[in-house]
Amino acid sequence: MSAQTVVARSRLDGRVLEEIPGHDAAAVADAVGRARAAQETWGAMDVRVRARRLRALGRVLGDRGEEIAGRVREETGKPRSEALAEVAVSADLVQHYARTAPRVLARRRVSRGWLLGKWAWVDREPWGVVGAITAWNYPFILAMDCVSAALFAGNAVVVKPSELTSWTALLLPELATDAGLPDDLVSVVVGGGETGTALVHAGVDRVVFTGSTATGRKVMAAAAEHLTPVTLELGGKDPAVVLADADLERAARGVTYGAFFNAGQTCISVERVLVARELHDDFVARVVALTGELRAGPEEDADLGPMITDAQLEVVERHVADAVERGATVRTGGERAPGHDATFLPTVLTGVAPEMDVWTRETFGPVLPVVPFDDEEEAVRLADAGEYGLFASVWTGDRDRGVRLGRRLRCGGFSVNDVLSHYAVPGLPVGGTGESGFGRRRGREALEEMSRTRSVLVDRSGLGRELWWFPYSAKARRLVRAVLAWRARRGVGGMWAGLRAWMRGVDA
Ligand code: NDP
Repeated sequence: MSAQTVVARSRLDGRVLEEIPGHDAAAVADAVGRARAAQETWGAMDVRVRARRLRALGRVLGDRGEEIAGRVREETGKPRSEALAEVAVSADLVQHYARTAPRVLARRRVSRGWLLGKWAWVDREPWGVVGAITAWNYPFILAMDCVSAALFAGNAVVVKPSELTSWTALLLPELATDAGLPDDLVSVVVGGGETGTALVHAGVDRVVFTGSTATGRKVMAAAAEHLTPVTLELGGKDPAVVLADADLERAARGVTYGAFFNAGQTCISVERVLVARELHDDFVARVVALTGELRAGPEEDADLGPMITDAQLEVVERHVADAVERGATVRTGGERAPGHDATFLPTVLTGVAPEMDVWTRETFGPVLPVVPFDDEEEAVRLADAGEYGLFASVWTGDRDRGVRLGRRLRCGGFSVNDVLSHYAVPGLPVGGTGESGFGRRRGREALEEMSRTRSVLVDRSGLGRELWWFPYSAKARRLVRAVLAWRARRGVGGMWAGLRAWMRGVDA
């Protein structure tokens, strides 16, 4: 494999930002080797010391936030406030872990059960080197989610960003250096899919992949060759369910925001909305009006920026054309922005049927199909159409009902009367089910995934031997019978049963 240069370009005006030398398989292996050397000392450190040192990383994100956001915006074209939000959410996660990681990763004593005279505990230890393959839609957050959890847990990380956003990712080692972290603890390898494959084959101890379901399958197959555990954060087709008792204004505003944030290029964006039939027409009218007010284009304060690539734009156009051909109606949008060909206007579709691509396949663009439903059963059935199961939202005046309904949906999480905000809660894990993958990032769950358990048992009896060791004896059998009688019931009743079994004597 030869190392190809990656040309980082501005999505705002197409100019070349930097020509970045790519990493071939040998260079990737070298990066993993250096990461492994750096990890030895880092992983051996007490988690409280690591947590103290990593606080500095949060501060660096604060100090260099505008610069990071500038790169994100330049490469993706997203509005500045959205780019800045990536840094804010990442800094918050770092400081959250600084507080919680020492507790989550601390030694956990467990009951020694019936084995009197023992100590037992569980330690959490790092995997070693984590390979993170990330997507372009949130170039900073997606990498930092993984980097943060991995570092707190004592790993080194090698990030393979999308080719499209490598320029942003190059900041990661710089930020780590600024925070005073050891060299090579965070590194970046640059290149296309083949660089990602090389990373999986380079002897990393865990792979965290964020991207499409199709690539996720390939990554898992490659990781299986080495029995390397994987976390797969894949695509989504999140439904919003608007019940008849919902606050119309909040639901319409929330769904519009959830559908068009980052021009719909968000794994947890609202890709479909189901509305109670009696509210449908008013809801559509309100959403269409709100959508019509959005400013789409490359300007810094636009509400929606351009799509990341022309290929992604063509997927969106295909989904809209397929829907229209099969009878859907474009209520607003439906085409590229006049004067800026890379931007697709936010689009609302009605008359959508569940068999249309736009209902079951990930569009990953600013398209919102609206479908009415008659009762909750139908809403659940429509929401669960397709194979994805990432996130969902329920909109209702009755929060308990919202929670009840959310729990019936196939998803890794849901919000009631809100959308996307859960990502700003660092304690909430993010991840899906079905074609949306498995494993979690953020929250304590990510720290747990970035570490593995080591079980420890220490004898403190000082006896010369245990009763159940060789050679077997009638006494040993008597003991095992007593233990069975005791532990099968537990509690006082179990203890009596155990005692009786012991008293019954040998081979009774
Ligand atoms: P891709 O699957 O195309 O790419 C993801 C990453 O994998 C990129 O870095 C890509 O490199 C790399 N890659 C491509 N081929 C291989 C391979 N054979 N082996 C190893 N790595 C490879 O996804 P997109 O970049 O298009 O991202 C969009 C997708 O990501 C959407 O489906 C979205 O839903 C999903 N996503 C999911 C999230 C979640 O939390 N569940 C969060 C964010 C996005 P390169 O780009 O250089 O080709």
